[in-house]
Amino acid sequence: MQLPREVIIGNGTIERVAVVSRRLGFTKSALIISGSKTYDVAGKAVKELLEGGGVEVNNFLVESATVEDVDAVEEQIRVLRPQVVFGVGGGTKIDVAKLSSARRKAPFISVPTTASHDGIASPLSSVKGFEKPYSVMAQAPIAIIADTNIIMDAPWRSVISGCGDVIAKFTAVKDWKLAHKEKNEYYGEYAASLALMSAKLVIQNAKRIEPRNEEGLRVLLEALISCGVSMSIAGSSRPCSGSEHLFSHALDIVKSNHAMHGEQCGVGTIMMTRLHNENWKQIRKTLKMVGAPTNADELHVEKEDVTKALEMAPTIRPERYTILNRLNLKHKDYERLAKITHVVK
Ligand SMILES: [Zn+2]
Repeated sequence: MQLPREVIIGNGTIERVAVVSRRLGFTKSALIISGSKTYDVAGKAVKELLEGGGVEVNNFLVESATVEDVDAVEEQIRVLRPQVVFGVGGGTKIDVAKLSSARRKAPFISVPTTASHDGIASPLSSVKGFEKPYSVMAQAPIAIIADTNIIMDAPWRSVISGCGDVIAKFTAVKDWKLAHKEKNEYYGEYAASLALMSAKLVIQNAKRIEPRNEEGLRVLLEALISCGVSMSIAGSSRPCSGSEHLFSHALDIVKSNHAMHGEQCGVGTIMMTRLHNENWKQIRKTLKMVGAPTNADELHVEKEDVTKALEMAPTIRPERYTILNRLNLKHKDYERLAKITHVVK
């Protein structure tokens, strides 16, 4: 079980980057991975703070999260041999820094500039170009420094996506329990409870998750980080990724680049909650409250895309048993499901 040693969340926490780094023993060299925008937003500050502490810092820009990006960063790590790698940015930069550092056996510190998904603290990376469309094991960050002051300035859509990714744990945990009961799959009560509690806290606090509300953002960040930790405890993405994530991955294949990961997972959660015979209306209401998409139109996809993605979902990851395998629905049933839950008109 790999867990972060330091998690610092709050207003202006970026200032603590040099202290944290020193405390963890990284006094000589560091490599910062960021995007060109996120370098201006936070990467530059991290570089200057570390340099102020006498650390030799190199900076490498990536603009996407593909296998090629990971290879390029790995090469940087091989040549520069930094004591620690910083991932500074939204999802993609952190994913690339996490996977490349894991492969080169260098520790990794996560400095998120958005709250868009649970990858900011998880041991998994989502990278394009692999055979499978879902996340692969990398390593847990040794520290997470989340500055709410910086994250608050990110587009509101990233917060919406983060909420969807946390609320998704509601059905992910249900699917895990089902797989345990019916397929005797390993089930970790602690990891499952942590993921579920995060979803419940975001649902309870949805009213406070609004632009410029630091308290609400903090709830979301703590929830995302707890989800990341739950995956470290489980040793897989099981507590955080079930049928609703399979729907999102399938939708990416059916029609890519139309909505954010968490937005799709949120809509998936509405439908999968209905299949689990639970309160899907509450999920929908919560998503609406934070301004998240709840239907095909808002995801900018056609209604046929939704049905196609639902049909494809159980085939994406055959070893991951979910409610979709259990029910084994037909085309007509999926059409009905999307209609009943108001995902399509
Ligand atoms: Zn996710």
